Amino acid sequence: MSGKVVKVSGPLVVATGLADADMSDVVRVGEQKLIGEILTMTGDSASIQVYEETSGLGPGAVVETTGAPLSVELGPGLLENIYDGIQRPLTEIRALTGHTIARGVSVPALNREREWYFTPVVEAGAEITGGVILGEVQETTAILHRIMAPPGLTGTLKEIRSGLFKVTDVIARVETPAGETVPVTMMQKWPVRVSRPYRRKFTPSVPLCSGQRVIDTMFPLAKGGTAAVPGPFGSGKTVVQHQLAKWSDVDIVVYIGCGERGNEMTDVLMEFPELIDPHTGEPLMKRTVLIANTSDMPVAAREASIYTGITIAEYFRDMGYDVAVIADSTSRWAEALREMSGRLEEMPGEEGYPAYLASRLAQFYERAGCVECLGGDGRRGSLTAIGAVSPPGGDTSEPVSQATMRIVKVFWGLDSSLAYARHFPAINWLNSYSLYLDGLRPHFDQTYGRDFFANRDRAMALLQEEAELQEIVKLVGQDSLSAPDRLTLEAAKMLREDFLQQNAFVELDAYSSYEKQAKLLSVILRYYDLCSAAIGKGYDDTLSLFSIGARERIGRAKMVPPEEYEAAYDLILREMELQINDLMKGGEEL
Ligand code: ADP
Repeated sequence: MSGKVVKVSGPLVVATGLADADMSDVVRVGEQKLIGEILTMTGDSASIQVYEETSGLGPGAVVETTGAPLSVELGPGLLENIYDGIQRPLTEIRALTGHTIARGVSVPALNREREWYFTPVVEAGAEITGGVILGEVQETTAILHRIMAPPGLTGTLKEIRSGLFKVTDVIARVETPAGETVPVTMMQKWPVRVSRPYRRKFTPSVPLCSGQRVIDTMFPLAKGGTAAVPGPFGSGKTVVQHQLAKWSDVDIVVYIGCGERGNEMTDVLMEFPELIDPHTGEPLMKRTVLIANTSDMPVAAREASIYTGITIAEYFRDMGYDVAVIADSTSRWAEALREMSGRLEEMPGEEGYPAYLASRLAQFYERAGCVECLGGDGRRGSLTAIGAVSPPGGDTSEPVSQATMRIVKVFWGLDSSLAYARHFPAINWLNSYSLYLDGLRPHFDQTYGRDFFANRDRAMALLQEEAELQEIVKLVGQDSLSAPDRLTLEAAKMLREDFLQQNAFVELDAYSSYEKQAKLLSVILRYYDLCSAAIGKGYDDTLSLFSIGARERIGRAKMVPPEEYEAAYDLILREMELQINDLMKGGEEL
């Protein structure tokens, strides 16, 4: 049975005669078979969100339901791909229809012709449950794709084959307890709005190392955690996200571009394939899936894109990988939600956003986590979700920022005044936070020694003191400050300039290992301690203390190459002790 369109309003189409359809079903609308999804059903009338341009569509057009919810195809061929919000492969479509995507084109998400070499890891006769790894495919040089029994399948493996197969070829057969034989292919389908099952969830306890000092040391994110990067236009959101995609020690990155202004997505599409994975020297795309909504696509497709992205991410997590999802930006996504809600004539909430904005955002971030995967072998995977928020005018009191802040555990607040002063990354240390600090502490203590955490706290305290002192300086001027206060200001300045500032475009500075971060921080704090001791002994010529040679070398310390920093930092430590002692000659030795 098929229905008929009665009303078209932008991406919203109302159709009747669809009594046999269900909410969330995917439908094909009109002669061009535009792809749509049923949002609400009343009787036999359905409100449909159409993911393609609806111009030319009018009352009377035919609507057919596919009987299936919006789903993604999962299997070999996902990596290196660029998809739109409803998982249409952009490169292949462009090859077919030219630069702008023709409407109604139907190209499968996973290439049906390409063959992959499948190597079984279990033998016929094995008992199978959903999530059991059946075999492997070397999908890219970077990633081994584990082919899993689909969730819900239980039975005895009757047959399994090795060799070259297409994703739809049968690679195994499973006999269920009911005596039915189920063919298994490398490809699975999964509805995007339903999270994929796992065995259990753990509290995240391992940091995600991004190589960005302000993030890793000050406001660390845990693998399996959630983070938001709010910031006004030009404050460096894109650079932060690219740095995260590039340097994070995760296996797979799913980057969702929800159509930030104008042609920005086109930039991402051009830039990403050029990026090199610094850990392997291979193109970054070998471990990346890109979901892109270019500006020529209707807003409705943005709404679907974050579900498409996170479902693909969950699938790789299920293999036992560490996956990061980066969504840029959730504000654009929320605007799509608002537009549809308006057209559905729902009761608007704050600033016109629907009342369910917060719960939808929560549904996205809740899919992050550290899990034990299905399959019974105890393997673990993690899914870290990072969302950019671009509040209009940078004002984080608006609904999307507020709702996000209530959900995520890490907040890296980008600040336009820092960006203006060219302090990058412009993450404001006074209002950012990480709620993973306590959970990560055992890992830090064990891996980098107890000093690391203590130093981090001391550095934060110095930066906070600086903010207070600056208020005083504004009133009474720098000269009236005591020597210890002058030292606090100097140390905080060093923390800002020599530690927090990090240039993404300078090769030696773009990435800092945790070990290097820890040592650099300890060098700065050691300098503070030595000066502080000197002042304590009555030496109050702070100008001389602040101009010793070692002080200047700390300023260049972040640029020391990874293989040399240990020796170089030790040298600075020795030098500063000698130089400060020299200054105090005649006085009491330290
Ligand atoms: P947004 O996405 O918030 O509009 P961008 O990420 O495009 O802002 O950043 C704007 C500019 O700020 C960049 O073009 C770059 O010059 C500068 N910038 C941002 N972050 C850094 C960084 N870590 N190192 C050096 N420059 C940066």
